[in-house]
Amino acid sequence: MAATKRAFIVGGVAGGASCAARLRRLDEQIEIVLLDRGPYVSFANCGLPYYVGDVIQEEAKLLVATPELFRKRFNIDVRTQHEVLSIDRGAREIEVRDLVSGRRYREKYDVLVLSPGAAAIRPPLPGIDLPGIFTLRTVPDSRKIREWIDARSARRAVIVGGGFIGLEMAENLVHRGIEVTIVEMANQLMPPLDPEMAEFVHQRLKTHAERLQLGDAVAAFEADAEGRLTVRTQKGGAFPADMVILSIGVRPETTLAREAGLEIGVRGGIHVDDQMRTSDPNIWAVGDAVESRSVITGVPELIPLAGPANRQGRIAAEVISGRDSRFRGLQGTAVCGFFGIVVAMTGATEKALKRAGVTGFQAVYLHPGHHVGYYPGAKPIHIKLLFNLKDGRILGAQAVGEEGVERRVDVIAMAMQMGGTVFDLEGAELCYAPQYGAAKDPVNVCGMAAANVVRGDVELADWNGLPGSHALILDVRDPHEFENGTIEGATNIPLGQLRERLEELPQDQEIWITCGVGQRAYYACRLLTQRGFKARNLSGGYESYRAWYPHGVQAV
Ligand code: FAD
Repeated sequence: MAATKRAFIVGGVAGGASCAARLRRLDEQIEIVLLDRGPYVSFANCGLPYYVGDVIQEEAKLLVATPELFRKRFNIDVRTQHEVLSIDRGAREIEVRDLVSGRRYREKYDVLVLSPGAAAIRPPLPGIDLPGIFTLRTVPDSRKIREWIDARSARRAVIVGGGFIGLEMAENLVHRGIEVTIVEMANQLMPPLDPEMAEFVHQRLKTHAERLQLGDAVAAFEADAEGRLTVRTQKGGAFPADMVILSIGVRPETTLAREAGLEIGVRGGIHVDDQMRTSDPNIWAVGDAVESRSVITGVPELIPLAGPANRQGRIAAEVISGRDSRFRGLQGTAVCGFFGIVVAMTGATEKALKRAGVTGFQAVYLHPGHHVGYYPGAKPIHIKLLFNLKDGRILGAQAVGEEGVERRVDVIAMAMQMGGTVFDLEGAELCYAPQYGAAKDPVNVCGMAAANVVRGDVELADWNGLPGSHALILDVRDPHEFENGTIEGATNIPLGQLRERLEELPQDQEIWITCGVGQRAYYACRLLTQRGFKARNLSGGYESYRAWYPHGVQAV
């Protein structure tokens, strides 16, 4: 069958491979060539930390699909170790170099799809090119790290950057018996989280004795005569290491696009429309290399995740095949697990909302168990839910815990995708049996707490206003709980005595109410406001306070 047109796809992993396979399913006649400068296509980048950690023991398991499979099953011409050097948009040609033979050649395209991904950032610091300093992006990168660990019998590692990949690497190196120090420039791990939510991560990580150097940046790398490394920080820290992993983020791979004169967006990614078309109507771009609008704020974002890259690849293929598919935007739904902690998020954080100039939102904090308390083994999930105060639209959720975390965030993510509100969460019908959840699932409870605020049934106090607040702080827990720790300066009246002791409370002063996790405080708020007091709930109660204030962390 003669080909109707020629499609070239640059980059054969998440976005590129998805695009190629979808394109073939939709168009049997088009010629498809998938080019990658690396030795593999369709490999599992997300599995690389676990290969380093020996959790995944065979390299072959990382190869999701081989060039042979693409050829046989999809009639796709896969050319690994072929780098695309340039795009001649006028002639509709690309220049390619075969990295094995060194041969350069040109190919004519009708359709070009760019999915070149992102490059790990290597800051130009003194000593950055010393042996033993690694980034992790590809299968060969992970192989090099494994070989180094084995050859040097590595015992100590410094991880620069405490985000998703840094923390996954920390867990995997510890799994290999390596002592890990994490140096992070921000004052928090997991920079995508709001700082008060990251505090739950810090607390858990400290119990694993990993050394955390927060709020400090690397100044230089040094090596002694035996090649042993020292990582020096701006605050004067000196951390000896047998190896260093740089995981300080990625930047979109835009060289080809820039040099071809394609439009680059405000965040530095390739500019595309919602059909993944670049500023050239014959060229599409997808994945980590492009910027897309946030579904929440409408602001262009770079969110390097496998899910969006795959979906964008499919959408580009559909549009190329004549369908009217559109990318709905980035929601940033992500999960990461390390040392038994699970961190998941979806939508905007409070800092992202503020950066985008969004106002009129509110946050509730909750700490429900992942299943009912009476069934053994319930673990708390710390949740922050952000929502629009006027209509209850869900803007984002962050959760940290050990069990059932990603399930709750996935449910909220789906509700958001359907344009859902806190009222939808309140009324959601979800799975329940004692070992899995509760008749009022954490998702329902989040919805109820937020819906109470939107309906005006309760007002929330501002955690950031606590220091120097003129409000009376009222703790409605039982005396034995109060004695074990409370908010500084708080007065204790247990909820069960509140009705009888109303005369002890001021009518002309705000009363900010706290309890264990916010539930009894909510009951107290309802009681007091109906009796004419100005009461507000400190959302999340003492559990929130205890996590944040002793560490000087404030809500955003
Ligand atoms: P990539 O998958 O990076 O593919 C780009 C390909 O293009 C590369 O193979 C590259 O060699 C090739 N290329 C670039 N330039 C050229 C050129 N000029 N010529 C030829 N070929 C070229 N995301 C998640 O959602 N969950 C996770 O748990 C997760 N874990 C991760 C762990 C690690 C260690 C890494 C590195 C990433 C992880 N990600 C995760 C991110 C996810 O892998 C990426 O978002 C996704 O792979 C992006 O897809 P892409 O197609 O844009 O780019």
